[in-house]
Amino acid sequence: MAERISVGVLGATGMVGQRYIKLLENHPWFKVTYVAASPRSAGKAYKEAVKNRWLIGADIPADVKDLIVQDANDAKLALGKCKFVFSALEMGKDEIKALEAAYAAEGIPVVSNASANRWTEDVPMLIPEINYSHLDVIAEQKKHHGWDKGFIAVKPNCSLQTYMMPIFALQQAGYPIKRMIVTTLQAVSGAGYPGVPSFDMIDNIVPFIGGEEEKTEKECLKILGTVKDGKIENAAQPLVSATCTRVPVIDGHTATVSLEFDLPEDKKPSIEQILKVWEDFTSVPQSLKLPNAPVHPIVYREEENRPQPRRDRETENGMACVIGRLRKCPVFDVKFVALSHNTKRGAALGGILNAELLKAKGFFDNL
Ligand code: NAP
Repeated sequence: MAERISVGVLGATGMVGQRYIKLLENHPWFKVTYVAASPRSAGKAYKEAVKNRWLIGADIPADVKDLIVQDANDAKLALGKCKFVFSALEMGKDEIKALEAAYAAEGIPVVSNASANRWTEDVPMLIPEINYSHLDVIAEQKKHHGWDKGFIAVKPNCSLQTYMMPIFALQQAGYPIKRMIVTTLQAVSGAGYPGVPSFDMIDNIVPFIGGEEEKTEKECLKILGTVKDGKIENAAQPLVSATCTRVPVIDGHTATVSLEFDLPEDKKPSIEQILKVWEDFTSVPQSLKLPNAPVHPIVYREEENRPQPRRDRETENGMACVIGRLRKCPVFDVKFVALSHNTKRGAALGGILNAELLKAKGFFDNL
């Protein structure tokens, strides 16, 4: 095996950070050599910092359990310890924005899960199967800040991952979408640990997640946008109406989606044509054979009662978008149910796929 690139995880003790630690255990390209979190955890061995809150159903990787957790607020501490960092911090937006810029300024690229930089015009918000071309804005980002090696790339909100690939596949096949109604049924792990109190979640559904509907309605336009003059210009449509709810599921966000095509009646795709587009969909991560690229990014379940979080979230190691129940919609054109694993595709493994794309495209050369 070629020498692996040393990486750091900021927020390594949290829900998403722990996923990073476990998922990177045997990664062919990356090796965790640096862990950082809040001053509450700093100075402790990682295994002590996560004692009684290690949430992954397997042992803490041997290479990581004795690493001393550092204070993530000091970017200089990472110098010489890792080449780039995954950021899974839960802090105020302005604090995260300043901190991610501080790492980039020190020459340490940041692959982030946080929302703080999602709306920065020259920061790509990546789903590698969709907008790999947005990597082109990184050169402008570095120039604008005077950063030599450092840069920031982010992931979108986790709930979007459930349905953005099928939407993109249809648009790419010549079936543009004008309007969408989305209702999400989001897992409790999406709120981090300890998250929503059990008294609010057991035997219950919470019909509100702060800030989530705004993200769901806006982020898809940047993801589907195009690069112009070193910045990402948002797509003009689809117009999205979202309702986001929290449901008593541990992992796996579900969404129900109704679509209206921006096409005359006789040009709209049939159910069979849509299924064919989804079945054939493949993209750059698959052709580059990135280590965590799912072979089938979109998986359609024929059973009338699928997808279900418990049965389907691990499809393609938690990296597939699992769809079912495609049918005619009496109000719009078609509707379906979509599911993806929120802490894998929607968070840590999606972040790792972003890093794999960056590496394959040469962004980690000469670090
Ligand atoms: P979490 O479980 O609450 O973990 C938060 C992490 O941030 C912990 O490591 C914590 O360290 C650290 N932290 C908190 N305050 C800090 C401070 N003042 N200085 C330095 N570090 C601090 O949150 P999470 O669910 O893993 O989410 C992490 C990020 O990923 C968030 O930005 C979230 O929006 C995003 N995200 C989450 C999901 C998901 O499914 N959960 C999906 C997509 C994106 P201590 O342990 O020391 O407190």
